[in-house]
Amino acid sequence: MKKHNFYAGPSILPQYTIDKTIEGIQDFAGTGLSVLEVSHRSKEFVDVMNEAQALFKELLDIPEGYSVLFLQGGASMQFAMIPFNLLNKKAAYLDTGAWSSKAIKEAKAFGEVDVVASSKDQGYNYIPKNYSIPEDADYFHITTNNTIAGTEIKEDLDSPVPLVADMSSDIFSRPVDVSKYAMIYGGAQKNLGPAGATFVIIKDDILGKVDRHIPTMLNYQTHIDKGSMFNTPPVLAVFSALQTLKWLKENGGVEAAQKRNIEKANLLYEEIERNKLFTPAVKNKEDRSLMNITFVMNDEYKDKEKEFLDFAAERGIVGIKGHRSVGGFRASTYNALPKESVEVLVKAMQDFEKTV
Ligand SMILES: *Cc1c(COP(=O)(O)O)cnc(C)c1O
Repeated sequence: MKKHNFYAGPSILPQYTIDKTIEGIQDFAGTGLSVLEVSHRSKEFVDVMNEAQALFKELLDIPEGYSVLFLQGGASMQFAMIPFNLLNKKAAYLDTGAWSSKAIKEAKAFGEVDVVASSKDQGYNYIPKNYSIPEDADYFHITTNNTIAGTEIKEDLDSPVPLVADMSSDIFSRPVDVSKYAMIYGGAQKNLGPAGATFVIIKDDILGKVDRHIPTMLNYQTHIDKGSMFNTPPVLAVFSALQTLKWLKENGGVEAAQKRNIEKANLLYEEIERNKLFTPAVKNKEDRSLMNITFVMNDEYKDKEKEFLDFAAERGIVGIKGHRSVGGFRASTYNALPKESVEVLVKAMQDFEKTV
């Protein structure tokens, strides 16, 4: 049976990425060796790294003066690395979900943290607005897409201080004005490639402003100086991510991806609103994520949750159970998810409604 993969992460990848990764594992760039067993200093792998960085810059239209790095440790490692490298006295954070709050917790070990606003009071089901960003902060940190709650900041904010964004789950889902950010980072495993690589887009001139000693591996400057090849990079994850970038370029880049993502999300949100069994978890339409669509079963049907999950599973639908911290349902509609999968989910919701 065809599977429809709605997992939040690791999550669906283009078939192209899977096929090319298999090819590379069997015979990498005509070397007669597997990509798993060649030196990261070989010409063939250096080409992979260079091409991945170049495609990042091309697809996101990254201006001069920024570096693209592929590190390890996940987005979670960045929660500590960012304040380690950038926080002198005070940093500002917007608290929009579980990931933001983990970033805040880490930053507190390095200095004063000003949480400018939080939506925690309502289970993170909206994006706070009308807060002010202190002009004396070293940077302002946001999470653009809240993978668990299903909210998203879909514009590039204006910030009076360097803007740092966790874009783990919406990178490459829309065009981004990178010039508005000092840094953009995320784990690759949501919209880019397999787990194991953490991408960092960083403006070179924001570094060198803190006094503390930074361990070599945790210092962005180390990785910028060495073109992200200071030590062994996550070779397979970068190789695989490169395939997704090629696929994305082939399919019209981020503008076309955004169009498809809006179409898919509209289709699903419309059904959630129409169907008597379900309600969107995020009331405010403009705050709704295009990547992680969260919804719940209405109170009078709450006992049908498990039944619906089984009903959907029989149609090949995988991964729509909500995050363990919030319950309900979450359908992740990343770039690689075809519209057809959303149509199958919508049909399942309609058919299930008729059985109730
Ligand atoms: C998944 C996720 C993380 C955590 O990523 P790891 O690579 O597992 O550390 C952080 N932030 C956001 C927004 C995420 O979706």
